[in-house]
Amino acid sequence: MEKIRMTTPLVEMDGDEMTRIIWKMIKDELLLPFIDLKTEYYDLGLPKRDETRDQITKDAGNAIKKYGVGVKCATITPNAQRMTEYNLHEMWKSPNGTIRAILDGTVFRAPIIIDSIKPVVKNWELPITIARHAYGDLYKGTEYRVPEKGKAELVFTGENGASFRETVYDFECPGILQSIYNKDTSIESFAHSCFKYALNTKQDLWFSAKDTISKKYDMNFRNIFQRIYDECYKEEFEKLGLTYFYTLIDDAVARVIRSKGGFIWALKNYDGDVMSDMVSTAFGSLAMMTSVLCSPDGKFEYEAAHGTVTRHYYKYLQGEETSTNPMATIYAWSGALRKRGEMDGLTDLVNFGNKLEEACVETLNDGIMTKDLVNLVEGQKPTAVNTIEFIRAIRARLEKKLGA
Ligand code: NAP
Ligand code: MG
Repeated sequence: MEKIRMTTPLVEMDGDEMTRIIWKMIKDELLLPFIDLKTEYYDLGLPKRDETRDQITKDAGNAIKKYGVGVKCATITPNAQRMTEYNLHEMWKSPNGTIRAILDGTVFRAPIIIDSIKPVVKNWELPITIARHAYGDLYKGTEYRVPEKGKAELVFTGENGASFRETVYDFECPGILQSIYNKDTSIESFAHSCFKYALNTKQDLWFSAKDTISKKYDMNFRNIFQRIYDECYKEEFEKLGLTYFYTLIDDAVARVIRSKGGFIWALKNYDGDVMSDMVSTAFGSLAMMTSVLCSPDGKFEYEAAHGTVTRHYYKYLQGEETSTNPMATIYAWSGALRKRGEMDGLTDLVNFGNKLEEACVETLNDGIMTKDLVNLVEGQKPTAVNTIEFIRAIRARLEKKLGA
């Protein structure tokens, strides 16, 4: 079989620990035999980030801006323990945070669903995609442990004379205090990313917050979404028969549980953080959750939603057999290659992405799976395999599909 051609390089970002091992297996077994793979390689493994003083992460982010599509392996976000483990110069920031700041995007997370793993919520038939605003709020908040009796105030001093001062609380005893913020520009790009993604994937968009209680903060999110929808997307949504609506988060939760799935649920930063864990767990497993960062100017970064699976890596280093699930990482590649194919008008590459995913699902439907999924399966006795056996089982099915 002639290898599938590529024209523009994909921005490839390697990572750490178990996922780095899996990364190579995927390339060797599922990509390089079939594709004339063109990538611009960035090693975001922690040693290289440390050696380049994290410049490599910024370079990778800028490369995605230049080429339009990237695929990223999971990476370690250093903490105190990693400082000693890797003898780091500095506690480098989360690469995902750095890349997000460069691309200014929204993270979309969707579960991979298969017939034999039934969602805990029995009426869910289609995936539910969570769109999480990845800027501000609690994650950029300022907190204070109030040690004694005293007054807490919220103060704003504008450059052009606007000013605001209001008592938050007159503390009669010790307590706690927190302030959070967001920016119109960031909320606007969040909204644009969500509407674009909904059109791209032809799904309805829901947005929920708590504007009944948060009459200025959450109401601002609601108003921005509505304005951008009316001004820029309403016509196209209607043409495609798609719906956008805002609803209170309480109501959204009830509707999501009663739904059949098959829509995008946009959420503020914290709500999205929590709800994406709930949705992935209810659909089956974190190892089956895909993730794509989508910028308002149409750049895409694909990755798995899970981390570097450290516990498995330490076992692997001791020579023990591991059964780590590569599904979400494979889907990061298939998604990125398909998007690259769409952008460059390469039908074979688009088809390859689709066939690779079909081969994965068929393997699982044949009852061949990694250990994490075995206990979730209903109605058949699955065969638990290790990572490389699983990948080779996918390869056999992929070869058939490609006539290789
Ligand atoms: P994790 O790597 O997602 O793993 C947590 C646990 O979830 C694993 O121990 C494993 O459970 C299960 N799991 C996750 N992915 C799996 C897979 N593909 N196959 C089978 N089981 C899987 O999270 P973590 O242990 O909290 O974090 C490890 C490192 O990853 C940290 O250094 C963190 O900074 C980094 N991280 C990176 C990203 C990213 O790059 N996007 C995201 C999150 C975390 P069992 O141990 O029970 O088998
Ligand atoms: Mg979370």
